Amino acid sequence: MATTFQPACPHYRKCGGCQMQNLPYAEQLLWKQRLCDRLLRPYGKPMPILGMENPLHYRNKVQAAFGVNHKKQIISGVYQSSSHRIVPIDHCMIEDACADAIIVTIRSMLPSFKILPYQEDSGYGLLRHVLVKRGFTSGEVMVVLVTASPVFPSRNNFVKALRNAHPEITTILQNINPGHTSLVLGEQEKILYGPGYIEDTLCGCTFRISAKSFYQINPVQTEVLYRTAVSFAGLTGKETVVDAYCGIGTIGLIASRHAKSVIGVELNRDAVRDAISNARRMNIRNARFYPGDAGEFLCAMAEAGERADVVFLDPPRAGSSNAFLNALRTLLPNRIVYISCNPETLARDLAVLAKDPYRVTAIQPVDMFPFTHHVECVVLLSKADGFST
Ligand code: SAH
Repeated sequence: MATTFQPACPHYRKCGGCQMQNLPYAEQLLWKQRLCDRLLRPYGKPMPILGMENPLHYRNKVQAAFGVNHKKQIISGVYQSSSHRIVPIDHCMIEDACADAIIVTIRSMLPSFKILPYQEDSGYGLLRHVLVKRGFTSGEVMVVLVTASPVFPSRNNFVKALRNAHPEITTILQNINPGHTSLVLGEQEKILYGPGYIEDTLCGCTFRISAKSFYQINPVQTEVLYRTAVSFAGLTGKETVVDAYCGIGTIGLIASRHAKSVIGVELNRDAVRDAISNARRMNIRNARFYPGDAGEFLCAMAEAGERADVVFLDPPRAGSSNAFLNALRTLLPNRIVYISCNPETLARDLAVLAKDPYRVTAIQPVDMFPFTHHVECVVLLSKADGFST
């Protein structure tokens, strides 16, 4: 039986972000290992999970909601799970400490600039959220001020004061989100300072990250994850590689150095733009990125009779689509490397994929999200002997 101990975080019960605070880290890993073992047993035995040496303050993307409490004080923090009540939090055990400090500074600046948090019920006020992203290797810091309206009184002075307090900030954006929505970011964006993006280096490649594009939130473990995925692909320099659900092109661009060519596909147009500019800046000429639905894209490739030797897929938590999985079985690459952030949808999708001519030849769980119940896995599917082309 697991030993319970007092959670280190005082917000544990209300916040709900870290479901495993009551377990020592070694036991969290054991829990995650058992979950993978149980869900993926039909396909093989998962290797021992790769955990972190220091599992604290790993989150390089921090988001805080702003509001007013019953004493009319301005608060910032996270929404209590499945509610719209803000749990005030200044310091978080898993978030980047510099990002947390910037959020506290912004909160303390609001009264003197006469800026009020946006209040959903009355529609009154301006500031909805603050998003901070920090490049782990570069140290570059992006601050996104999410406002309900484009009008931002004393904007220039606000930016100046924030930069004075935190000279480590390299870019500041205003994102306008006027809608009645639970989404943090709206469509419209204005650059208030700096280039409007940050850069970071992973596995020797430098990536441009914009406010809206997806970027893995645990840089230390992302390197572990990507190295595992690329080594599973067994690239020799001759392969045509597909990077599906590619985000800003990270996996494809890292793989491009060991492959003949890379084709990336991604739904989010901002991320595709980042992927293309990442390739250009790194002088990578054998990678192309396309906006669109991965399922439709792969179907079109299969119908056109195109070939791929290796397909990486890294879908969101909902997993892949039947259209994608069926197209994959028409395309018949030699290797499929499935990177999953949800072992349940992974198991569901493997039920479609792991049939002749494929079998699962390796399963590597990686702990990307210590203290939470999320589990990441990399699975290699290879063509069974006699089927290789
Ligand atoms: N491989 C990337 C991103 C993984 S996150 C990385 O490691 O950083 C999953 C990505 O899938 C997100 O960027 C999301 O925008 C994209 N996505 C979601 N649904 C999609 C779909 N139907 N087709 C293509 N991309 C999709």
